[in-house]
Amino acid sequence: MKRVELVVVGGGPAGLLAAATAASWGVETLVIDENSSSGGRLRHETDVMPEIQGYVGLRGFELVAALQKEVERPGVKVLTEAVAWGLFKDRVLGVARRAHIPSEAENFSLPAKKIILATGAAENPVAFEGWTKPGVLNAWAAQSLLNLYGVLPGRRAVLVGGTDLGRRVAAQLTAAGMEVAAEVEPSSVQAVIGTDRVERVILKDGELQADTVIVAVGLSPVTELGLMAGAVPGCIPQLGGHCLLHDRRMRTTQPGILVAGHAAGVDDIRVLLLTGRIAGLSAASELGKLAEEVSDALIAQAWAEIKAITATSPRWEARQRLVRQREARGDER
Ligand SMILES: Cc1cc2nc3c(=O)[nH]c(=O)nc-3n(C[C@H](O)[C@H](O)[C@H](O)COP(=O)(O)OP(=O)(O)OC[C@H]3O[C@@H](n4cnc5c(N)ncnc54)[C@H](O)[C@@H]3O)c2cc1C
Repeated sequence: MKRVELVVVGGGPAGLLAAATAASWGVETLVIDENSSSGGRLRHETDVMPEIQGYVGLRGFELVAALQKEVERPGVKVLTEAVAWGLFKDRVLGVARRAHIPSEAENFSLPAKKIILATGAAENPVAFEGWTKPGVLNAWAAQSLLNLYGVLPGRRAVLVGGTDLGRRVAAQLTAAGMEVAAEVEPSSVQAVIGTDRVERVILKDGELQADTVIVAVGLSPVTELGLMAGAVPGCIPQLGGHCLLHDRRMRTTQPGILVAGHAAGVDDIRVLLLTGRIAGLSAASELGKLAEEVSDALIAQAWAEIKAITATSPRWEARQRLVRQREARGDER
C-alpha cells in the first residue's frame, strides 16, 4: 500500500488543526477518527471557548465546525468510524473501519511517512463498591447523553470529584432540569447501593438518595499507540500523568511519530491547539515542504503563545520538564 505522507490519528481540535496546518504547506494528509464525525470531545461542549487562534466567542461545537472547515482543503481526507488499533515498525498503523453492512467492514494496514498522535485524553475512574452499576458514569458520558443525544442520565445526581469539567457538566445538567444534590470527595464514597441501578450513595458520614453518580476526578493522556511503537513516556502529574516525551517540535522519541493535544499532556484548550499547530509545522518541515528556518520561526512564535497562556500555571514548568527530558535523550530518536 502507498505510504501516506501524514496520518493524523484523532480528529479532535488538536488533530484537525495539525492536519490543516500541514496541508496548508502542501502535505498530503489523512485524518482518522473512530467517531461518526470529527471534532473530538468539543463536539459535546456548549460552553463558550476562550479566544483561540483568531476564533472569538464560539461555543465548543461551533469551534469544531470552524476547524472542520479548515480541513476542507485539497490534500486532506478525513476518514471517520475508523479506529487505529495498533502502531507497528516503520510507522505502519493497523486500522479497522466500521461499515453499516457488517460484511463490508474493513481492516487494513496504513503505512505513513509521518504520524501525529492526537488521540486526546481519557477520564480517570474511581473504584468503590457498586461503581459498575447502571447510573454510575463519568462526566463526559453524562455530557454526551445530554448534548449529543438530548437525554438526561437521571433525575438526581451526586457529583464525585470537583474538577472544572465535572462542575461544568453539573451546571449543564442542572440547566437542563436535573438536580445535582451534592458534590462529594472521592475518598468519602463507601458504596453505591441499588437493585437494577443507583438508588443510594453511602458516604463515610451519611448517605444520599440519588439515581445517578457522576465521576469527575481528572484526565490522563491517551498514549497507547505511542507506547506500542516504543515512544518513551515520562510521568508529569501536572499534565495528567504519563505523557509521551516530546521536544519543542512535538517529536516523540520514535522517528516520524509526533504528538499533539491532550495526548501530549492534559492542558488548556488554547495550548492543545497550539501543540497541534506545532506538530503540523514540524511534520511539513520534516517532509521537506517547509524550509526549516521558516518552521523554526513559526514554532518559536507558537511556544511564545503557549508561555503567555500558561506562564502562571504549574503546567508551563511541567511541560518544560517534559521537553527537557526528551531533549536529554538526544539522537536516540
Ligand atoms: C470552556 C471549555 C470547555 C471545555 N469543555 C470540555 C468538555 O466539555 N469536554 C472535554 O472533554 N473537554 C473540554 N474542554 C477541554 C478541551 O477543549 C477538549 O478536551 C479538547 O477537545 C481536547 O482536544 P484533543 O484534540 O486533544 O482531543 P479530543 O477532542 O479528545 O480528540 C481526540 C479524538 O481522537 C479519537 N481517537 C482516540 N484514539 C483513537 C484511535 N486509536 N483511532 C481513531 N480515533 C481515535 C477520539 O475518539 C477523539 O475523537 C473544554 C475546554 C474549555 C476551555
